[in-house]
Amino acid sequence: MKIAFFDAKPYDKPSFDRYGKENGIEFKYYETKLNEDTVELASGYDGVCVFVNDTVNANVIDRLCQLGIKVVALRCAGFNNVDMKYAHGKIHIVRVPAYSPYAVAEHTMALLLTSVRRIHKAYIRTRDFNFSLSGMTGFDLHGKTVGIVGTGKIGKVFMDICRGFGMRVLAYDKFPTPGLDNGDTVKYVSVDYLLANSDIISLHCPLTEDTYHIIDEDALNKCKKGVIILNTSRGALVDTEALLSAIKSRKVGAACLDVYEEESDFFFEDFSGHIIEDDILARLISMPNVIVTSHQAFLTEEALMNIAETTVKNISDILTKEQSPNELCYRFGTTEDCKDGKCF
Ligand code: NAD
Repeated sequence: MKIAFFDAKPYDKPSFDRYGKENGIEFKYYETKLNEDTVELASGYDGVCVFVNDTVNANVIDRLCQLGIKVVALRCAGFNNVDMKYAHGKIHIVRVPAYSPYAVAEHTMALLLTSVRRIHKAYIRTRDFNFSLSGMTGFDLHGKTVGIVGTGKIGKVFMDICRGFGMRVLAYDKFPTPGLDNGDTVKYVSVDYLLANSDIISLHCPLTEDTYHIIDEDALNKCKKGVIILNTSRGALVDTEALLSAIKSRKVGAACLDVYEEESDFFFEDFSGHIIEDDILARLISMPNVIVTSHQAFLTEEALMNIAETTVKNISDILTKEQSPNELCYRFGTTEDCKDGKCF
């Protein structure tokens, strides 16, 4: 079995080569992303393996089908870059629903601690033998209220971490988990209540039509002054221009972003020798109270191994049995994991 692997990075290869070899799957690694211009590279392969910023739209799906591609294997959990409605019944789409919620949740806390304790500033100062503490005053997380939007696998781990710090949790989820609300330190509330009462807001829901710009100007106006916004989920959950304005007006006290709505033009690549054309990203990065990481929350050794193992299993299941428990299907007008293998 031969798979064209798009948007390949050096850190992908060891784990995919290992699990591919064990399962008779050979990967051809392409550095380029999959899109309408590069789809021809899939010619002669049984499937394609893609990541968060590859484009799997209607035109790409049509061409993949013409090329005889059986499966699009997402090596990630989110699938907002796939036109699921169009793909349904044409091509198998599989994903890795969970690989390490700890990786993303721990990175979220790393960003939060870095921000509130000014670690990013301290690191630069002490490297320059500047041991002054002026402007370094942080605040305790203990006793603060964190609002968690999306209480799935990652949201729940982040909730546990926050509770370990002695924080109160307000949660919002379209599909709340029964038993999670203890009526005391963890409470399910409406979005508006969460916005108005959280010191810190962390986004852990998927990007859907419902959640696009869930943090926009209106939402930010409802927040407490000085709120900290954490986004390690998907960039377009936040209206970045509105966030920038709210940072400038001091309504937002700090922002920690591992994702950005226009990230596909920049993230994962080295632009250190270039002039960045994106003024919003450049302005955000210039702010002392904004920390940007380039979609690295998933990047732990454990996660890379789990991603490769599950992706190889997904591909093998589809190519040998035409079904996989991790197949995404778009039936009844919404995308969900296929429960009975009857997507086609
Ligand atoms: P999950 O499916 O386990 O949880 C998502 C939760 O969001 C569910 O509880 C669901 O009910 C809830 N939800 C769905 N629609 C909602 C809505 N309209 N409003 C509020 N909540 C809603 O997913 P997960 O594994 O916890 O991952 C969450 C997100 O994290 C993914 O969708 C992905 O975008 C992102 N992610 C980012 C990285 C990274 O490296 N930065 C890595 C993995 C995942």
